[in-house]
This record gives sequence, C-alpha cells and structure tokens, in this order.
Amino acid sequence: MLDIKIVNGKLLDMDQNRLIEAELGIKDGKIDKIGTIDEDARIILDAEGAVVSPGFIDIHMHEEEYSLTENGIDIAIPMLQMGVTTAVTGNCGNNRQDIRTLREVIKKRGNPVHYMSYVGHNSLRVRAGNDTTLEASTPQQIEMMKRLANEEIEAGALGISFGFEYSPGTSMEEVLGVTQDLKGRRDILLSAHYRFDGERALESVEEMANICKLTKIPFQISHISSMSAFGNMQEALDLITKFREEEGLDLMIDAYPYAAFSTRIGTEVFAPGCFERWGKSWEDILLTEPPYEDQPATKESFEDARKNYPEMLVVAKVMREEEITLALQHPLVMVASDGIYRNHKGHPRGAGTFPRFIGKYLRDEKILDFFEGMKKITRMPARRLRLHNKGEIKEGYDADITLFHYDTVIDRADFGSTSQEPPEGIEAVIIDGKLVLHKGKLIDTTAGRYLTRA
Ligand SMILES: [Zn+2]
Repeated sequence: MLDIKIVNGKLLDMDQNRLIEAELGIKDGKIDKIGTIDEDARIILDAEGAVVSPGFIDIHMHEEEYSLTENGIDIAIPMLQMGVTTAVTGNCGNNRQDIRTLREVIKKRGNPVHYMSYVGHNSLRVRAGNDTTLEASTPQQIEMMKRLANEEIEAGALGISFGFEYSPGTSMEEVLGVTQDLKGRRDILLSAHYRFDGERALESVEEMANICKLTKIPFQISHISSMSAFGNMQEALDLITKFREEEGLDLMIDAYPYAAFSTRIGTEVFAPGCFERWGKSWEDILLTEPPYEDQPATKESFEDARKNYPEMLVVAKVMREEEITLALQHPLVMVASDGIYRNHKGHPRGAGTFPRFIGKYLRDEKILDFFEGMKKITRMPARRLRLHNKGEIKEGYDADITLFHYDTVIDRADFGSTSQEPPEGIEAVIIDGKLVLHKGKLIDTTAGRYLTRA
C-alpha cells in the first residue's frame, strides 16, 4: 500500500528536458515508483494536468524572528504556499536567533518547510563582544568567532555567511581568522552579501573571489540582483565567470526576480550617499511598519524611521529591471527569494519569488528555456547544498514535491499590505511524503525538519 499516488500529472525530467505523463507512487517519505502503478494508495492525488516538480529549494532567505510572532512562524508559511520545500536561513551574516534555538523549536513543533542554516558572521561578531559595525574585531574576538563558527558547523550548520555591507569594519584578516580551521573544506559553503553595491560592486566581487581563493571553500555570491543591477550586471557576471574559468574558483550566485530590494532601515545600506549612488530619492523607499505603514518615504519620515525605528524593514525600488533579467538568465545563477518579514510585513519576494519566476519570466517573457529555468530552483540548489536525495523526480529520491499549473501559476504578493499573499496555480505540495498543501489549503505545517549537512 502506497501513501500517495499522483495520477494525471506531468513529471519533470531534467536529464532529458521533457515532461513525462506517468503516475508517481510515494511510500515512507520517498518516491517509490514511477510509471503505470497498479498498487493502491491511501491518498490518490489527481494532479489535473499539473507539472510534478521537485519541491522548490530556496538557497537564500531569512528565517523568522521567533520573539516577534506568537507561534514563532512567519515566513515559513508563505514559503510553503509558493511551493518551497527546503529553505536556507541565516544569510547575509545574520541569524535572527542562534541556531541551537532554531533547531530546538523545529524539533519540538516541526516547521512548514525544511530549514538549513548558515551561521552568520555578524551574529558571531556580536556574540564575541564586537557589537559595532564599523570597528575591526580584536585578535581575541576573532579567535572566539572562529571557535563558535567551528562549533556551529560541527553541530550541522551549512557554513558561514558574511554581510560585509552591514559590518564594514570586517577586514580580510578577520575573514581568514574566522575560517582558519575550515580551509579547504568542500562540504561547507561560504556566502556573502557584497561590501558595496552600485559602482563599487565589481570591487566587492573581487573581494569575494579572493576569499574563495584563499579559503578554498565553495562560495555563494548573494543576491547579485540587488548589488549589481545598477549598471554593471554584465561586467559582474563576466568577472565571476572569468574567476571560475581562469582560476578554477568554485563561485556560484543567487538572485531574486524583483527590481526592488529590502532590508532594515537602520543599517549601513542607507548611510548618507546611497541615493546619489542609486540615482534615486526618498520616495523610492517604501516604509512597511507603523507609524509609516505602506507609505513612500519623505525626507522627514526616512530620517525619523532611520533614527527611531531602525529595525523596520523597508523596500527600496531602485534597481534596473533589464539587469534583473540578465542575472536570471545566467547559467551560474540560482533563483532564491532573499525573503524576510517582520511582524508579517516586508517585501513580496518572500511569498512570490518562485511562482513569479515561472509565470512571469519563464512562461510570459520566455527569458529562458523552461527546463533550464526549472533547474535553477530545484536541481542546481540541491547539488550546491549537497542534498543528494533532493531536487529531482526519480525513484528513491525524497518525496518533496510541488505540483503547479504552468498555464496559470503567478505571484499575487505585492508591495504593501499584500506582501504575504499566496500565489495562484500551486496545486499541491508534498514534504517528506506527506501532503501538506492542497488547492490553496494548508493541511500540515509541521512536516519540515532542520536538515544538517549531508
Ligand atoms: Zn543580503
């Protein structure tokens, strides 16, 4: 007896770049059979012509802050509703609570989707006693960060994320100190949020490539769309390609499909000079929380929020759309959401990235072959994360599966009050062999686990 049998679906085959009309049987959390299946199942799921895809893997997002929301769950629900089954937290140098807490909470009550986490360097900095963003860390603090990073990785963290723009005081010496014992490890990842966006973004690419070269650890360049879509995207992509091809550096990239970014207004990102750099102004910044909820900023509200509500997430509509497309088309780029919410408020990318990528960019604008596009949200991130049993529809693989209707799938989350609105066209989601979402209805929000490195 199977647990679930999916009938009338089109299975995504990424080896042959084709859709296969076949049945799929699930048992004990795994894809048990593909073909014509006589065996009975407890649940027969009629896919009604939907694409049967591996669950989407979001290699770059930001977990919820457990102290803010009542049951602790915020972004993990919109993630599930847009078809994500595994998400990577702790990006850009920032953990919103320590990994131990994250793991314990998930162990106790489950999670809507699987989580993996980086240990964030800026969070380590604070734990080691450097709570400034501009000052260098002392040798003792670096030593302590190194020890803490080793412990977290030993306990199952994916690797270390850096957020250089948020802590400009971080030197190369500090980076090499913190990663000293990890040199040459191929089973972990480093990632970084650039030190500079806009015209100095290429300098940042060189810094990240240099870290990859000196540490010999695979390196993930974070959200290129929000750092290089100010006029030098092609140069940035070419430079990264050159480092890979000429120096053999293991660099890869993620990007999200929006021409607007989001972060806390109190950070260095909005330090004086940002508007000159972007060629934009206050009204291009959308404030998301009281007392300025869903209002474009003015000089006065911008300055007030920066000073008195520094944790407020804001949306900056400052990037160039055509350069977002360039990034999404590039073979080294995976699509990831960079989603982050605070009190259920924020940028729609946390609830719309994957349906938007498929519906707007693959189907409507045809920026890329459908199968090449689908690999960017399934097989590519699975391989990058060394999740050897995920990211493909094959017998023996984990039954993390998303069914979507290619002709209707689209994001509905938008800027403002609908930033967590679920998409259209997601037929069903299965995690670890359990049906967790069906026709827009959440069935189970506890099937996700904390995944340690393979
Ligand atoms: Zn970032």
